[in-house]
Amino acid sequence: MIKFKCPYCSETRLECVMNGIHTCEVTGIKEHEDFNYGEYSSNADVEKWQCLECGYVLMDENDRDVIITNSEVIEWCKIHSSDEYYKK
Ligand SMILES: [Zn+2]
Repeated sequence: MIKFKCPYCSETRLECVMNGIHTCEVTGIKEHEDFNYGEYSSNADVEKWQCLECGYVLMDENDRDVIITNSEVIEWCKIHSSDEYYKK
């Protein structure tokens, strides 16, 4: 498995930020509490990937464009999250 590691805070949890329509079934309506929800389905586009802790946004190798696709994330992780990268 490929691991994410934030270059700034060393957090290993990655967050996917999406922009679009999310829908879910309401399975319980309660007066003084949050409603219960069933399965979520989303028809959303990835807007960016970021570190869960500090919000560092993954950029391409030239730091010009925000990474969007899964394959770019894999590529990014291979480069930035390897032990070799931190030894430099
Ligand atoms: Zn971070």
